[in-house]
Amino acid sequence: MSFSSLVNDLSFKDKPSAASEQRRQMARGSSVSTFDDGRSHLSRARSYASTSATSVSISGDIASQLHGGYSHPLARSWQAERQLTKSMLIYPLFITDNDDEDTPIPSLPGQNRRGINKIVPHLEPLVRKGLRSVILFGVPLEPNVKDALGTAADDPKGPVIASIRLIKQRFPQLFIVADVCLCEYTSHGHCGILRDDGSLNNELSVDRISDVAIAYAQAGAHSVAPSDMNDGRIRAIKLKLIEAGIAHRVLLMSYAAKFSGCLYGPFRDAAGSVPSFGDRKCYQLPPGGRGLARRAIERDISEGADIIMVKPASQYLDIISDAKDIGKNMPIAAYQVSGEYAMIHAGAKAGVFDLKTMAFESTEGILRAGATIVISYFTPDFLDWLES
Ligand SMILES: [Zn+2]
Repeated sequence: MSFSSLVNDLSFKDKPSAASEQRRQMARGSSVSTFDDGRSHLSRARSYASTSATSVSISGDIASQLHGGYSHPLARSWQAERQLTKSMLIYPLFITDNDDEDTPIPSLPGQNRRGINKIVPHLEPLVRKGLRSVILFGVPLEPNVKDALGTAADDPKGPVIASIRLIKQRFPQLFIVADVCLCEYTSHGHCGILRDDGSLNNELSVDRISDVAIAYAQAGAHSVAPSDMNDGRIRAIKLKLIEAGIAHRVLLMSYAAKFSGCLYGPFRDAAGSVPSFGDRKCYQLPPGGRGLARRAIERDISEGADIIMVKPASQYLDIISDAKDIGKNMPIAAYQVSGEYAMIHAGAKAGVFDLKTMAFESTEGILRAGATIVISYFTPDFLDWLES
């Protein structure tokens, strides 16, 4: 059917109400006539066709016409409040105390555990492609290196401190975040120092965690990011940074809303941080705890956090949005965790969707929710994808 015959067809079918007919008459500047006039059908059909196609081609008003606003790829990108850029990405690195190690992590496709000798060759091409930031996780593999206090966490020769110094020297433009926790270094695998009954001793844990944070900051980390979830650790770290005279140059990124759950499995494989007993449900947040997350975010902001992080990301978009709402004046980071990354890879491998398309879609969802920083294992891929 041609457009003009469609118009005619629609016009003859049209049985306007008195009010709409009156509006049309007024719009045409004519005086109001009797709308059930015998000639009206024919004359209406002519005038619809000749005056305005939109009055018959759409049933709603002008505001219903949206397609023109995103018909071009560039116009589509303008619809996003925040567009993914390379500088939003932080790339997680697992660094072992076995200097020459370079071992793929089976549950994290494309990710390796690396010794310090393998870090620079790995980072060189990524920095050339625009990598701006890394977050470091130490993975002690030496026998007997773990104890009840996580002593190895701030060993000056340990993998994290040694790699902070090395990366800073070789890639001075790279922003180094050091994850701060004890679980990789404690014999029991929990994120602090324990009481006899197996629960976290908050006071001793905070004291120890804040010491470790200061050691990383003094080694040259631009940011320390405590992931332990002990109460009061943000305040303790901030005070020690001030005391050490380095608060002005160290960014404190809080894993404020870190939820317990099953999405950390591949990370625990990678970092060797599976608890030897129990779980972390008494210090990480329960998945349904939105109000509790809001309180944790408010607390960490009041204790001096410079950036609030939500972890995991895609299952907690409402929490990211809450964090943006509560922390209106600060950057919000989201950690797309190992399980999210592994699921996307598994889905793509099973033919459910295209890997790149889903990597973008999931990350854009995280940004749309309110994050301005994304910690992502897809970072090396994005450095290529954002180029093309
Ligand atoms: Zn931990």
